[in-house]
Amino acid sequence: MTETCETPRRSAVVTGSSRGIGRAVAEELARAGFDVCVNCSSARGLDEARSFAAALEAEHGVRAIAAAADVADADEAEALIAAAQEAFGRVDVLVNNAGITRDGLIARMKEEDFDAVVGVNLKGTFNCCKAAVSRMMKQRYGRIVNMSSVVGVSGNAGQANYAASKAGVIGLTKSLARELAARNVTANAVAPGFIETDMTGALSEKQREAIVGRIASKRLGAPEDVAALVRFLASEEAGYITGQVICIDGGMSL
Ligand code: NAP
Repeated sequence: MTETCETPRRSAVVTGSSRGIGRAVAEELARAGFDVCVNCSSARGLDEARSFAAALEAEHGVRAIAAAADVADADEAEALIAAAQEAFGRVDVLVNNAGITRDGLIARMKEEDFDAVVGVNLKGTFNCCKAAVSRMMKQRYGRIVNMSSVVGVSGNAGQANYAASKAGVIGLTKSLARELAARNVTANAVAPGFIETDMTGALSEKQREAIVGRIASKRLGAPEDVAALVRFLASEEAGYITGQVICIDGGMSL
């Protein structure tokens, strides 16, 4: 298959795809025909990530690999992107989804909690983008989707570290969009509201009720809601959308 005559088979790296939103995104991209690199943070999760990748291959007829990499570490991020390039011959889509929280009011927030959250959420996104963009520019095609959050736009009491990291992701995304658009590489941010995953699993029933009361759709989102949006932004049809922040929150931020 030559690129001049036909569209090449597309491949995607989804960081933090062992669980939650990232897992749903990996599944959705595989369903859409992308070869997929599944990622977990450390070797501890590798067996589970490998069986998920094998299931994607069996169910969707695509190629899938699993790679353990802590995206906060620049060398590990580079190795992650290199592993996908090696396996699939190209990296067309990068979904920077890996994220953590270490909540607390600022007066009590430890410096290490700030550094850890910014390290994974913002620097991890930077590390993976840096590793992927030279490859995308060379092939004159790329789709970068960065996971922000509605709190990166609005701020949130008790989440100064997390909100700062997610606001940083927005600035990073817009800058990349400006740098890369002429090379047919887009960069967009997705800003979910409350989505049912392990990250929101610790909410008490009272907290959930209060949150649902603020959501126009009167429900928390599902990982699949976010995955459908990411799949569109990762598609060729989304080539004229770049530098945008798209909230997916059931109308919470209206
Ligand atoms: P989750 O269920 O806690 O899953 C987090 C994923 O990130 C896991 O696959 C985890 O891998 C991975 N991860 C964590 N640290 C990593 C690291 N250093 N390197 C590589 N992977 C790492 O989270 P989620 O709710 O699906 O959230 C996914 C993304 O959406 C995050 O960026 C989050 O901030 C954002 N978001 C979530 C919500 C929500 O309501 N859930 C709302 C707005 C934004 P392991 O399994 O190996 O730990």
